[in-house]
Amino acid sequence: MTGEPQPDCLFCKIVEGHIPATIVRETDTTVAFRDINPQAPTHVLVIPKVHYENAAALAAGAPQAAADVLQEAQAVADEDKLDSYRIVFNTGAGAGQTVWHAHAHVLGGRGMEWPPG
Ligand code: 5GP
Ligand code: ZN
Repeated sequence: MTGEPQPDCLFCKIVEGHIPATIVRETDTTVAFRDINPQAPTHVLVIPKVHYENAAALAAGAPQAAADVLQEAQAVADEDKLDSYRIVFNTGAGAGQTVWHAHAHVLGGRGMEWPPG
């Protein structure tokens, strides 16, 4: 839990422009870019510019940025004209988290099942 940029963090590098990404939206506090390994026709990651290791840590440390991430998720869905979509915050390795910088997956453009895998 930090708020400071982490030198070895992939998503901090994307925020800083040191690693390329297909950016679809950017605000003062967030960046949204297409996932490199999309799991749906729309698969966009919305990340806060500040580094926190997961969504709950972000909400505790920078609540406005957490709200901004959710607002941007809706904006991504609007841009891709999605009536229905899913927001996923994988939290912990057992849930599939592999990048330890908070991020929302915005998934849509196909039917989705419940419960998730
Ligand atoms: P997690 O598994 O932590 O919930 O999500 C991390 C996501 O980041 C994965 O869906 C993965 O495909 C995506 N990802 C990993 N490396 C890169 C990258 O270099 N660029 C982009 N655009 N996405 C990445
Ligand atoms: Zn980071």
